Amino acid sequence: MIDTNLIVLRVLAEYVARYLSGRDVEIWWVEPETNMAAVGAAFRNGRKGLIQIVPGLSPDRMLGVLVHECAHLRLHWDSLPYLGAWRNTRHASFRAVSTPEKTARFNKREREAEELEAYWLRWASERGESVTDQMGALLYWKAES
Ligand SMILES: [Zn+2]
Repeated sequence: MIDTNLIVLRVLAEYVARYLSGRDVEIWWVEPETNMAAVGAAFRNGRKGLIQIVPGLSPDRMLGVLVHECAHLRLHWDSLPYLGAWRNTRHASFRAVSTPEKTARFNKREREAEELEAYWLRWASERGESVTDQMGALLYWKAES
């Protein structure tokens, strides 16, 4: 049976992703390739952005993951991994090496993404009740300058 609600959510997610990240983005509904515990991931894939989101999340959880990854695309484009390079070096030992500097940079980017995620979710929840209404509202978000 066709799950129309799921289709609507996923189509809306594509539009929200392009709009919030400010670039061409694809969403793959797959287990994120960054690590086994992740529910979402953001990559560069050629000139496009790529968001991977684990399928099967509740709609509001999905929206949280979506806007979090959009925040990374918007704020951290230059430091996002290329998917191809990421796959080629998946087992390379340098990945496993974590220095205090690397950890600090990672944590800073996570804080920045979480801040923008929270801001977008608040913005959306003030304008819509259901997740689809909130996603529709996000398509009218205007960055404050
Ligand atoms: Zn993150």
